[in-house]
Amino acid sequence: MARFDDRVCLVTGAGSGIGAAIARRLAREGARLVLCGRREPPLAATAAAIAAGGGAPAVIATGDLADPAPAAAAVAHAKRAFGRLDGLVHAAGDVVRADALATTRDADWNTTFDVHVRALQYLLRAATPLLAERGGAIVAIASNLARIGLPGLAAYSAAKGAVTSLVRALAVELGPAGIRVNALLPGLIETGATRSAPGWEANARGFAARAPLRRVGQPDEVAAAAAFLLSDDAAFITGTGLVIDGGASIS
Ligand code: NAP
Repeated sequence: MARFDDRVCLVTGAGSGIGAAIARRLAREGARLVLCGRREPPLAATAAAIAAGGGAPAVIATGDLADPAPAAAAVAHAKRAFGRLDGLVHAAGDVVRADALATTRDADWNTTFDVHVRALQYLLRAATPLLAERGGAIVAIASNLARIGLPGLAAYSAAKGAVTSLVRALAVELGPAGIRVNALLPGLIETGATRSAPGWEANARGFAARAPLRRVGQPDEVAAAAAFLLSDDAAFITGTGLVIDGGASIS
């Protein structure tokens, strides 16, 4: 038996980067998947990669998760297609443009909170009844910037801090229903989004110099941790924030 045989997982941000790596990993371990994001083509590419790897056909649910309706629709899709939901991963969210707090536009602040915090609220509200049917697990992708500060990233850090607080609060609230809730706190991970962001080379060099493991991380390394937290191997773990940053935040 693979760890996710018979299980159904919904992964947001599954069209690229960390979310795509998590979806591929869960599929390799037997999960049937609902892939969510705003655009269909990247999600179709992830579904094709899953099929090429011998995974079960994935279902695609498109929509902007900053609005409540697409989050509810994605969960409804899981119920319609598979009749159950065992795991939910919230990895959607654009890499933010760094800006000093004094000049951060209200719209950018709101967008950051909408996709990282509100979307998680909408997803969990919709998914909790289905997850509770068999006991389930939730993994939210926060950031090590929930715990440390970097100039120009106040809105992002505050949103990721809110994600870790929400995870702890919901772990307490949902534990009696058999639902575990955990966060992953990655450091700098090499994705298309981070590679194409301004200053990638300098950022990567600076991060690697600070991190005891002397390099940036890879999406598959975050995916391995997400699969662990969603699986029964983590059956007694809830409310935690697992840092995946090569030690950057403790050095
Ligand atoms: P990415 O490659 O840009 O992936 C983000 C995904 O989210 C995209 O597929 C995007 O697809 C989707 N998305 C964005 N906004 C959305 C919205 N409003 N509704 C629905 N889908 C949306 O980024 P990544 O580097 O993999 O990052 C993934 C997560 O990890 C983010 O939460 C990020 O903050 C977190 N994280 C990343 C790093 C890092 O160094 N990479 C470090 C710490 C934490 P569409 O554009 O098609 O919607």
